[in-house]
Amino acid sequence: MSLSWRDRADRSFDERCDLCEEARLTEWFYEDEDCWIAECEICSVPMVVWRNHDNRPTSQVKDLLHERLAAVVAEHFDFEHYVDDNMRNIPDHYHAHARPRGGFFGHGLRRKT
Ligand SMILES: [Zn+2]
Ligand SMILES: [Zn+2]
Repeated sequence: MSLSWRDRADRSFDERCDLCEEARLTEWFYEDEDCWIAECEICSVPMVVWRNHDNRPTSQVKDLLHERLAAVVAEHFDFEHYVDDNMRNIPDHYHAHARPRGGFFGHGLRRKT
């Protein structure tokens, strides 16, 4: 299932926004037409970013993004997570962190391969 946000004519884009820019500063775990998931530079946990410059996704979009995020956690990390979509630094573009239960940062919690 995909909603194909990347290709939608009504999607928003802000050229001054770091998340719209999609610079690959850290490892990307996943991407599709709706979102991308990379390791957050600051927190060292996976972070899902909607491919639309908007901070109010429908619950359908949120469910989809959170589902993708959970799959990345299961594959690459060793913790039970909760979704934290309090957007502290970039409040106008929807993104969410998967954080370890009872914690905030993910340093050292990558699954060993
Ligand atoms: Zn943006
Ligand atoms: Zn972070």
